[in-house]
Amino acid sequence: MGGALPRGGLSELPQARDRRVVLPEAMTRYRCNQKACCCQGWLIHFTVDDIGRLASHLPEDERAARLEGITIISEDTLDKPGEVPHVRLDPVSADGKCRFVEGTGGCEVHRRFGPAALPGLCVNFPVVPIARGPNPMEQEVPVELHFDLVCPSVLDQIAESDAPYRMVEGISSDIEVAAPRVEFVAGHPNVSLNGTVPATFEQLDALRMRIMEACNTHPGTIFELLADISYALGKAATSGDLDAFRVVPVANRDEFNTFLGKTINAHDPAALARNFMTYQRFVFDVELPVLDLRARLTKVYAEWHQSYDERVGPFLPQSLLRRYLAHRYVALFASAARRLHFSYGSVVHAFALALRTMAALCLLTDRKQVDLPIAKASIGAAEYFYRSFLLAMPEGSMPWFVPAEPPAPT
Ligand code: SF4
Repeated sequence: MGGALPRGGLSELPQARDRRVVLPEAMTRYRCNQKACCCQGWLIHFTVDDIGRLASHLPEDERAARLEGITIISEDTLDKPGEVPHVRLDPVSADGKCRFVEGTGGCEVHRRFGPAALPGLCVNFPVVPIARGPNPMEQEVPVELHFDLVCPSVLDQIAESDAPYRMVEGISSDIEVAAPRVEFVAGHPNVSLNGTVPATFEQLDALRMRIMEACNTHPGTIFELLADISYALGKAATSGDLDAFRVVPVANRDEFNTFLGKTINAHDPAALARNFMTYQRFVFDVELPVLDLRARLTKVYAEWHQSYDERVGPFLPQSLLRRYLAHRYVALFASAARRLHFSYGSVVHAFALALRTMAALCLLTDRKQVDLPIAKASIGAAEYFYRSFLLAMPEGSMPWFVPAEPPAPT
């Protein structure tokens, strides 16, 4: 969150130990933008331990005033193994920001006491560190770092080059973004393919690496790539055979194309405008109109078709979209859904909404063609929209198609 983590942060944290880490190569250069975008506009859940640690760093004469109003809001998690009770700083300040955000957008806690005093959530965001095994405390088990695409600095890293997307391994103390975060690692969750077929870590790893490879090398368009991935996943889900998963060109993609067409048009413009209004605190590179923004967003989300045909479709940022898809498929283990087909299915939905948002924002800002700032903001807004729906999406809303078998040779 607003706490930028300086090199050397590891030595400031209690019980800091080196871990092997695996992360996207582009994210080794990730830096927090220090603009407090994630330190406002939501409930900011801290754990009881977080509050205790923070309290222990605050001078005694400040403690009561600075922590006044903290309330426990979800005691029910006490009964759930593996989950910790959360509290929230309630109220946050009058402008909706965490009470520790400073005027510059930085974090007062981090500035005064260092990362050791920060809540784990603030150390981690936008990273989800997950052990490559069930027990996060096993030091020999590497930690994967997944980066949340609502963060504008993560999107900057996705867009930084046209290079193939790849993962790298290293030692936590050598990688600035990794060092403090390995202290707040969670165990790898049990993931199933479709709610019934369990998927081992090795199977999932092989599957997503094949998708990543396809994103880097598929010879077709971005739509053909996404279709072929979806058909391959559909086939795996139907057969239950994850080991046979391969992304191969599908002869007839009509079913997928019809689905994508419906998906891109699926949502009420007013709901999309409302989502963007909430997401706009993450948007810094696109100058948005100040007057009547919500009404104007509703209008452009409704009138996106022609803008897409003229300003987006012919100018799609192919490399960015391929890197986005690779990032999204590789990171899906971090999804709370824990059902692979829902996590993977949501990629198609988010992708479709990102395209529609590109068209809407081109209209809104009078761009003649989509550019990188518009594309990044659109991907972030689409991810932001779908993260709230993932667990509630019905089975039938997922792009699970099995490719038609080619006719048997006669
Ligand atoms: S404690 Fe600091 S990093 Fe965490 S939400 Fe507040 S300002 Fe942001």
